[in-house]
Amino acid sequence: MTTQTDSYNFKAEIKQLLQILVHSLYKDQDIFLREVISNASDALTRMHFEMLTNRDVVDADAELAIHIETPETAVDEPKRIIIKDSGIGMTRDELIYNLGTIAQSGAREFLSKVGESNLDPSDVIGQFGVGFYSVFMVADEVRVVSRSYQKDAQAFAWISDGSESFRVEPAEKTDRGTELHITLKKDAEEFAAPWKLRQIVKKHSDFVRFPVYVGEEQANQQESLWRKRPADITADDYKNFYRQMTMEFEEPLLTIHFAADVPVNVRAMLFIPAKREPGILASRKDPGVMLYSHNVLIQEYCTDLLPNWLGFMDGVVDSEDLPLNVSRESVQNNRIMRNLATTIRKRVLRELGKLAEDDPAKYEQFWQEFGRAFKEGVATDPAAKEDVLPFFRYYSSQVDGLTSLDGYIERMAEGQDAIYYVLGEDKQSVTHSPHLDPFKARNLEVLYWVDPLDSFIAPAMGMYKEKEFKNIDNAGLELPELAEEEEETGAETAVPEKAFNLFVGRCVTTLGDRVVEVRASKVLKDSPVRLVSPQDAQNREMHRIYRYLDQNYEVPKKILEVNRSHSLIASLATLVETMPDSPVINMSIEQLYDSALVQEGLHPNPVQMLPRIQELMLLAAQGGKREG
Ligand code: ADP
Repeated sequence: MTTQTDSYNFKAEIKQLLQILVHSLYKDQDIFLREVISNASDALTRMHFEMLTNRDVVDADAELAIHIETPETAVDEPKRIIIKDSGIGMTRDELIYNLGTIAQSGAREFLSKVGESNLDPSDVIGQFGVGFYSVFMVADEVRVVSRSYQKDAQAFAWISDGSESFRVEPAEKTDRGTELHITLKKDAEEFAAPWKLRQIVKKHSDFVRFPVYVGEEQANQQESLWRKRPADITADDYKNFYRQMTMEFEEPLLTIHFAADVPVNVRAMLFIPAKREPGILASRKDPGVMLYSHNVLIQEYCTDLLPNWLGFMDGVVDSEDLPLNVSRESVQNNRIMRNLATTIRKRVLRELGKLAEDDPAKYEQFWQEFGRAFKEGVATDPAAKEDVLPFFRYYSSQVDGLTSLDGYIERMAEGQDAIYYVLGEDKQSVTHSPHLDPFKARNLEVLYWVDPLDSFIAPAMGMYKEKEFKNIDNAGLELPELAEEEEETGAETAVPEKAFNLFVGRCVTTLGDRVVEVRASKVLKDSPVRLVSPQDAQNREMHRIYRYLDQNYEVPKKILEVNRSHSLIASLATLVETMPDSPVINMSIEQLYDSALVQEGLHPNPVQMLPRIQELMLLAAQGGKREG
């Protein structure tokens, strides 16, 4: 049995952190209580879960609770507070590791954040996973006495004044859990007043899942907010609840609170966070919602209730229909669970639909953050399509902002039976896609699929509301005839047939088997050439994915379509007739091909074109007259 006292130095980052906390006076000192209560509550939750499977622990029957005491002290003595929990406790090693020597990335982040701005550390400390140290804002000395739940564990004390070091020694404690004995600084004596403590608990920790007693009296309402009627809850209640549950400091993007009794009893309070990435040390570590039955937490991270593509949601689901003793397995294969899942999914989608209608700007924010989850849904779960496609948003050739697929269908021309899309790198470059020429001429709308995931899921998209999705790079796409005067390839400006054929021949010899075919285009208007896919091309969307991933990427073979009435083509064709040896011809053909590849997002390395472009410029500057 260890009886000696050992001293340890804090890690460097922790020392700096303590330096800041101890030596400055902050406006919100009271948040130290929120931080230690939150730690105690975590320890209690862990105990709760341990005891679901293991009753062979110290104090198996103890109430899971937090007690705050304010012992009497003599007038000339410093004032003290004790915060006690019956949680999982810490062994000697855990005390040393958790409270002093753990490598603290959170501490570093915190220091840089506070260093670079005038932020009040007390506003943000909770976000960095170093909340415990905030006790040194109010304490001259802290003595943490802890006894682990494990039967053979002894109690130890961790003691520090928050400067350089801490010491650890054996302690007397027969019951399970952790006690913080805080000796208050002179200027923090107010925290020894029970009324003050109650007020702080109410403000910051009202919804902690375990009772928090100050003296004899319970100070938090610890009430299941989600069981109240929405009419009885204020916006602030929701906000506080979300913050206390997740330790996310940004307000959620959407709060969904509902109750139903058929087909299954459910009370749910769900949140869509503001950001896809959780805050640096948000307390919710895994995806999933908290599952309660009869007010008892059954699963802390339940992932069975929401489809994967809604996995970013957080919150609480409570159902009286679930038996209290549901084990992990039966949760998965349980009919009530399936009913719950359906009810929740439908409700969430309905609320999202409402958001899209009532507040398009906010919906767009949602789409920017979480749209990918929905797209992944299409990739991984074919059944999800029906649910998620109505929520997709795209840029398009005919609207300013984003459009939904339903919006597109509403604007469709009479007789149009397909939803047209063009793949590309970004909105900017896709606007100039040569494939758009015939669509502009016919005033047909085209969706811009410019997210890498769009290419990835293109093969899985299939149909929406009986309209097939069609890639407009398809050579065989049938489009309505144009009226005579709008005919794209104006015959009078077109290159004479003989010259044009010679030029096409040159393209064939220059490009060789890099292209399947070179032919005159029936549809191009503003662009000299384009690359189209042979009609039977398999998986052409995947080529750009391979390019993104840099995996076995081979430039796919396509058809080069040439615009007979484009002035550049006309000039080149004339050149082939009159100066067949000019180096400009081959270089231009290469460049036209390369540019078309870039336009398609298929070029393996556009930088390779630069020497040729320079050469062409040189020739242009010299009047194009140099002999080849
Ligand atoms: P965080 O709680 O965000 O991890 P803290 O600095 O507040 O960061 O706490 C550090 C660690 O100390 C916790 O992760 C936990 O393992 C341990 N700890 C703190 N308070 C308690 C407690 N009351 N009971 C058990 N373990 C605790």
